[in-house]
Amino acid sequence: MDNCIFCKIAAKQIPSKAIYEDDDLIAFHDINPAAPVHFLIVPKQHIPTLSDCGEAHTALLGKMMVLAPKLAQELGCGYRVGDDGNGAGGYKTLFNTGPDGGQEVYHLHLHVIGGPHPWRGQR
Ligand code: AMP
Ligand code: ZN
Repeated sequence: MDNCIFCKIAAKQIPSKAIYEDDDLIAFHDINPAAPVHFLIVPKQHIPTLSDCGEAHTALLGKMMVLAPKLAQELGCGYRVGDDGNGAGGYKTLFNTGPDGGQEVYHLHLHVIGGPHPWRGQR
């Protein structure tokens, strides 16, 4: 897709701080992090919003969701029930959709936002 910043990142036409890549997905650090850990999981395929997904995208969306805890763990904010709480561990997963959903980049992406209390004083 011309002029789509995440398509350009996927095509390596512009740089990113890469975390992960496979045939379907890339993940990279958000350029304007809202928390100590903030990265995006992005399909290589250009899909504008979550609302453009249908049954055909079930596996892709599942893959994005399953990747989130793996990468969160690698980046130090993973959490499983039974882990000691104490404010440490855990993350938010977020799809912004449309203007009222706060979407700025119209190429589907899953935010993973973690670190100690990432939502305090943040969005
Ligand atoms: P959203 O509001 O859900 O569309 O979020 C778009 C996110 O992409 C924001 O958190 C931006 O900081 C992030 N972003 C925009 N451009 C880049 C970029 N070139 N590299 C990494 N993250 C970016
Ligand atoms: Zn795109």
